[in-house]
Amino acid sequence: MLPDSQVNQPLIGIAGGRQSLDTPALLLDLGALTRNIERMAAFAKARGVGLRPHVKTHKSVEIARRQVAAGAIGVSCVTLGEAEVMVKAGIPDVLITSPAVTPSKIARVVKLARLAGPGGMMVVVDDPRNAADLAAATLGLPHPLEVLVDYGAGYNRTGAASEAQVLELARRIAAEPRLKLRGLQAYAGNLQHIVDREQRSAAAARLRETIARIVAEAERSGIHFEIVTGAGTGTHDLDAQRDAFTELQAGSYVFMDAEYAQVLQASPGQPSPFEVSLFVQTAVVSTNAAEWVTVDGGTKCFATDCGVPLVARGADPASRYAFFGDEHGKLFCAGQRPALGDRVEFITPHCDPTVNLHDAYHVVDGDTLVAIWPVDARGRH
Ligand code: PLP
Ligand code: MN
Repeated sequence: MLPDSQVNQPLIGIAGGRQSLDTPALLLDLGALTRNIERMAAFAKARGVGLRPHVKTHKSVEIARRQVAAGAIGVSCVTLGEAEVMVKAGIPDVLITSPAVTPSKIARVVKLARLAGPGGMMVVVDDPRNAADLAAATLGLPHPLEVLVDYGAGYNRTGAASEAQVLELARRIAAEPRLKLRGLQAYAGNLQHIVDREQRSAAAARLRETIARIVAEAERSGIHFEIVTGAGTGTHDLDAQRDAFTELQAGSYVFMDAEYAQVLQASPGQPSPFEVSLFVQTAVVSTNAAEWVTVDGGTKCFATDCGVPLVARGADPASRYAFFGDEHGKLFCAGQRPALGDRVEFITPHCDPTVNLHDAYHVVDGDTLVAIWPVDARGRH
């Protein structure tokens, strides 16, 4: 069986091809994507902070290239698999934002650092034992392995739990000639999705104060954090103050999703600077039930951790979707019911894990399919 992306290949460039796609198909609106990339790049430049977009969102070499072309200083990756894809594609200055701890992952880090060369790749560390293991594994690497100290930032998914632990780890790394200390990571995932802007702003300001204190304390003991990296889409504007962060790691802004559209649009007078560019196109496959129509996108098509997809096109936007098994969704229609075979396009509930369910982006400009881009690092750990 051919993947949907290959079946859809002949439609590229044909007017109206968007309505003939083999479904379900991941859609990417080229205009909205381009505007999002440019807006974030212009914003970071105007604020004098670097932008190192997180590729966990898109896992795509083509999109990473466009972000770098627009001014990003490099990219962030969470998995080594993503970093391997990006380095091999020639994407510069790749940061791995999660620690590599097991022997197999450490071996892959060192191999990738050799391939990337000095300045080409960095990895975060949150534990002295991990720092020692990384240093031991660099034997034969022609340059020191470049690392950042990871601070838990109150989120504590990874990262040193206290300011004292950050400083102790930084001292150890600074004293280890096989490691080169480049800076500090402080990513507070818990703050990104606070809907109330005042609360989000206050929490982000508290974190920046803590970071500034850590950086100053480190300077007093002769340790310089050249890079201070963090922030997602939810706090990107709050954190671009130059009082703590030197760069932003936002990822979701390229696509947006139902959840983030709510977070960034919740504040009066602060319209979201980013547009939804990512959609999933489904087809209506059954209309016999009186209360709903059935579409061909279910839990293998949309991430399920952040609510349900929202109708964008092809049915009344007030229609409600409900998951209906692996391959199907139930659409309770407001207004006119779509007919058998009609296309219904949805805003995804959560962009990053949705993308990882698909082989390729169907890039559209209006009703024309203009390209098909692979999700290069799909499923790569
Ligand atoms: N940095 C790290 C370490 C992350 O885990 C994430 C996303 O989870 C991001 C940045 C990007 O955040 P967002 O998708 O909210 O823009
Ligand atoms: Mn996410």
